[in-house]
Amino acid sequence: IDPNIKPETTTTEADIERALRPLSFSDFTGQEKILENLQVFVKAATNRGEPLDHVLLHGPPGLGKTTLSHIISNELNANIKTTSGPVLDKPSDLAGLLTNLKAGDVLFIDEIHRLNPVVEEYLYSAMEDYRIDIMLDTGPNARSVQIKLKPFTLIGATTRSGLLTSPLRARFGINLRLEYYDAELLTTIIQRSSAILNTPITKEAAFEIARRSRGTPRISNNLLRRTRDFAQVKGNGDISLDIAQISLKALEVDDNGLDEMDNRILITIIDKFGGGPVGLTTIATACAEEAETIEEVYEPFLIKEGFLKRTPRGREVTALAYRHFDLLPPNEQSRLF
Ligand code: ATP
Repeated sequence: IDPNIKPETTTTEADIERALRPLSFSDFTGQEKILENLQVFVKAATNRGEPLDHVLLHGPPGLGKTTLSHIISNELNANIKTTSGPVLDKPSDLAGLLTNLKAGDVLFIDEIHRLNPVVEEYLYSAMEDYRIDIMLDTGPNARSVQIKLKPFTLIGATTRSGLLTSPLRARFGINLRLEYYDAELLTTIIQRSSAILNTPITKEAAFEIARRSRGTPRISNNLLRRTRDFAQVKGNGDISLDIAQISLKALEVDDNGLDEMDNRILITIIDKFGGGPVGLTTIATACAEEAETIEEVYEPFLIKEGFLKRTPRGREVTALAYRHFDLLPPNEQSRLF
């Protein structure tokens, strides 16, 4: 083998994803209130030489829960072990992870609302008293042994905090809800990401991508990467407003940043239910999507953007939703006659 030939290095999407991930509080854009509080809690715990209280992060996907968990462990100078609710099948899976933690370490459990209830019960004493009681044997020989754990911090992430059992929720001392990002914040995130990717971008282009990103940094970064492909192939590599608009059109990104399911929900309520009010489960059936997903993932954004309202009698679209589809809202239709 010719020693001068270097092994080919390929940059995978996962490498890019890692490179774009902020590593410290100062690198993280937005979620100001959450960050302010977290910085205080981390500092106080560090000064006392105690582990940080358990943290529950909730909010729609792609807003930075995983990123924030890694930042917390970096700022605590701790190691982080990551897993997810559905992966922890048996109590022994959890026990294996917990007994391997060193003092002050962070255990990150994504999708914590999907924990097996038996596993969840074991987590209670682990969180509260840093111990687990494991049953050995069954029948007359059954006995339980207690395993002491090193003090640790559990960070749980969920898109569906409503599905968390109350005993579990009660064991998190710090409970934080991540909010959608406004276009200005996403512009900053896109500018930061393009600098990391060595791709020049104008402020207008960054803003155009930002405002069509559904308030979500993950979507911003994805759109940026695809726009960068267009810039390389159709232009000189720089992202101008023109290039951004051409690629967003090619990617079929809605002018308001709504995705296919957002649009399906709105048009279903308009077409099938006269604009509402209509119940959540009825909408879910008509859209072939789970009611919980609509409630936790889609609805918050549609409400925030003013396309949808929650009323005591159900969900109702707004005049803005009609206009989004170039339709006249019902109250304006009647005025025509
Ligand atoms: P999920 O729960 O669906 O995994 P998440 O909320 O954990 O989503 P992350 O994976 O942390 O989201 O973030 C998605 C992407 O967005 C990451 O690549 C990260 O780099 C980027 N990102 C998230 N928040 C920020 C932020 N505040 N500043 C810069 N980049 C961010």
